[in-house]
Amino acid sequence: MSEEELKRDIGLCAHCQFMRKIVTNRGSTFYQCQLSATDPGFPKYPRLPVLTCRGYKQVSSNPIQPSQ
Ligand code: SF4
Repeated sequence: MSEEELKRDIGLCAHCQFMRKIVTNRGSTFYQCQLSATDPGFPKYPRLPVLTCRGYKQVSSNPIQPSQ
């Protein structure tokens, strides 16, 4: 997935430090919000793309790797 596709399909979560990318054995990919564990205001699996989010915190480095 290119940077443009990440922005279009995933939105803010693509570069948020609270996002955990999960890839299943069957090849499905899920984006889990780690803030959901401590704040019920955040869905565990946000509806993508996320365009605005009060919890967003940009990763300083090592954003999620685009998948092939
Ligand atoms: S805090 Fe917001 S932007 Fe960050 S992973 Fe959760 S839903 Fe996505």
